[in-house]
Amino acid sequence: MTTTAGYPTRLGLLGGTFDPPHIGHLVAAAWSRQALGLDVVWLVVAHRPWQKVDRQPVSPVADRLAMVRAAAEGVEGLAVSTIEIERGGDSYTADTIAELAVTEPGAELFVIVGADTAAGLDTWVRPDEVQRGATIVVVDRAGAASPAPPVGWPFERVEIPRLDVSSTALRTRVRDGLPIDGLVPAGVSSVIRARGLYRGVSV
Ligand code: ATP
Ligand code: MG
Repeated sequence: MTTTAGYPTRLGLLGGTFDPPHIGHLVAAAWSRQALGLDVVWLVVAHRPWQKVDRQPVSPVADRLAMVRAAAEGVEGLAVSTIEIERGGDSYTADTIAELAVTEPGAELFVIVGADTAAGLDTWVRPDEVQRGATIVVVDRAGAASPAPPVGWPFERVEIPRLDVSSTALRTRVRDGLPIDGLVPAGVSSVIRARGLYRGVSV
């Protein structure tokens, strides 16, 4: 994959469960894109977030994808990727990187993670492949300690405002009948309302 100018595409990947997507995700993606001169950042919707599914209910992938599409709409330089949905099964970033080496040859990959996720990179499947295949980008996150991966992982740090918002807190607010306006794009609120998501669920 090259740009029209002929240089390799700098492709950012922000993977997530996005249950629901919120302004923290959008700021992480958009600010990383600007800071590192990325051509585009893909919001990669996990098909099966294997580190979560045994600990918490996860909404159907079709609902999460609809919300992510609504969240990305109109945001310059962001796109939605269904690569992990199409692959199915457990979603491993190492598999995504391997697939992109074939489908986007020559693209330079940047895996963007929040500080909380960065701390757990060693728990990912085939972490050596992630380390070799992409530049890790760590963004700040409220409540998370040092914005860095475990020792030995090279990374770029992008400073962003620490927006104290999480999908978990948003699910709780919807369940409790509290507003989430401003914390998610309006289109995401509409999808949540229209599909009756997060009402009466245990979060
Ligand atoms: P949950 O509470 O269900 O874990 P979440 O808000 O952490 O949801 P995820 O889909 O788990 O959202 O996160 C996807 C990626 O986005 C992770 O790398 C995570 O660290 C990052 N991220 C999520 N929220 C923020 C935020 N407010 N600031 C910076 N990074 C964030
Ligand atoms: Mg999370």
